[in-house]
Amino acid sequence: MIITDTHTHLYSEAFDKDRDEMIARAMEQGVSRFFVPAIDSTYTNAMFKLEEDYPESIFLMMGLHPTHVKDDYEEELKHVENMLEERKFYAVGEIGIDLYWDKSTLEIQIKAFRHQIKLAKLYNLPIVIHCREAFDEIFEVLETENDDNLFGIFHCFTGSLEQAYQAMSYNMKLGIGGVATFKNGKIDAFLNKIDLKHIVLETDSPYLSPVPYRGKRNESAYLVNVLEKLSEIYNVSKETIAKITTQNSKDIFKI
Ligand SMILES: [Zn+2]
Repeated sequence: MIITDTHTHLYSEAFDKDRDEMIARAMEQGVSRFFVPAIDSTYTNAMFKLEEDYPESIFLMMGLHPTHVKDDYEEELKHVENMLEERKFYAVGEIGIDLYWDKSTLEIQIKAFRHQIKLAKLYNLPIVIHCREAFDEIFEVLETENDDNLFGIFHCFTGSLEQAYQAMSYNMKLGIGGVATFKNGKIDAFLNKIDLKHIVLETDSPYLSPVPYRGKRNESAYLVNVLEKLSEIYNVSKETIAKITTQNSKDIFKI
């Protein structure tokens, strides 16, 4: 069984003490493909180091995270641009809008989001969207950027069924992780109405641990707990879910 974690911050400081062991635990469970989103330029070297250590398994994205869109965002975007020009990445992410942490930066968050969507299109790459308390604002941008070159993943999808359909209408797959296992996670109630061809798996580790690890550090090995939950929701085997969602990840990232 090959399981794909489409969103994991493997370079996070949270893994500094046991990163290799943590990756080995994931591989033991069949999680052998890791897609690693960027946050800002301070993490770029750590990402390259990871790729060097696991060239067969680790696939990097490039982008500026919405909560890191600050006064220096133009410089940061220049870094994203330079990196994309310089070498291969598998997506532009994670990008988007986050109004939970800081509403005052909305205007520049929208600018950075739009700019990075255009970069993704230029390089024919998928986008990986971070959305927190910002569905309307994100959909507004996607509406104006919607064309044949727009595609990607709505990472850590937590919206309603209606919002899921809207995301899918922009050629987005839904990134499903630990939230699906939460008692009050809500998406488990309607997920089975969404065809598996629209779903990819993700941990967002070290954040958002699934039950029974909720509140603790998350790691890619725990993707099997999400897999188990989806197997219940869809009433199909874990193997089938792993196979379909891994194929979906290949369709998006072209690897
Ligand atoms: Zn993330």
